Amino acid sequence: MSRVAFVNGKYCDFKKSKVHIEDRGYQFADGVYEVFTVFDNNLVDYNAHLQRLFRSLSELSIKTPIAKKAYLFHIQKIIKLNLINNGLVYLQVTRGVASRDFKYSDSIKSSITITGKIISDDTFNHSVFNGINVTTTKDLRWKRCDIKSLNLLPAVLAKQVAFNNGSKEAWLVGDDGFITEGSSSNAWILDKNNILRTTPKNSNILGGITRESLIRGLKTHGIKFKESKFNLIDIKNAKEAFITSATTFVTPVIKVNNIKIGNGKPGKFALVFLDIYKKSAIFSK
Ligand code: PMP
Repeated sequence: MSRVAFVNGKYCDFKKSKVHIEDRGYQFADGVYEVFTVFDNNLVDYNAHLQRLFRSLSELSIKTPIAKKAYLFHIQKIIKLNLINNGLVYLQVTRGVASRDFKYSDSIKSSITITGKIISDDTFNHSVFNGINVTTTKDLRWKRCDIKSLNLLPAVLAKQVAFNNGSKEAWLVGDDGFITEGSSSNAWILDKNNILRTTPKNSNILGGITRESLIRGLKTHGIKFKESKFNLIDIKNAKEAFITSATTFVTPVIKVNNIKIGNGKPGKFALVFLDIYKKSAIFSK
């Protein structure tokens, strides 16, 4: 069966799906997106992802193209039509189509596209059990990283630097020398004092939904944790490191640049944190 996409109110063949060349998403990256994970036929933390989508829209004064309660219907339909048991749903809303002009009118009708993709169990599990390498690179992004906007060029460049260095993820280094987050994930270490650390939530990072769920779980389990930024020296001294994101869950980091984390294998707590996350995340149909 061929894949199906939802494009501005219509379900269509993924390969033939089209948007207008003057869509402001294409012209200006004037839009936002959200990624919903499907795991064992369940959506993971659906409400939190939808809430974040609406926050991103509101911060950019983009109107929702469909009613809030209609999102679940279309997302579920894309999951069904694309036969996704494990995978992801990518949803994008842009300010809409208008003659190219930086400023915008409030009367533009926003655009929506939803696509789905199957991810095999092996792909989900490979990095989680083997760990990944990370390469650090300068954080070149704007000052509103809390908005999940389409403005992803710095993330594209960072991920390519990582890939060129044999890494799966880039950790972005802010002007102060501290890691902000990953190019598409939040960054964590278990420091030399056995305290789990991740950058505090502010406009320099995206408030990850996976990060939030893990923090909830850590609090329930009474695990020492601090929203505190860290730098390369802290990484050198770290006992463990990992990333969190909707599609990577809790994935151990075994090397940062040429620094081996622990003994260069996923740390002994990595699976514990993964388990805590899975118990804390909300799975729904
Ligand atoms: N930071 C950035 C820059 C991201 O792109 C992502 C992935 N959406 C995350 C963090 C992790 O967010 P989440 O856990 O909601 O996937």
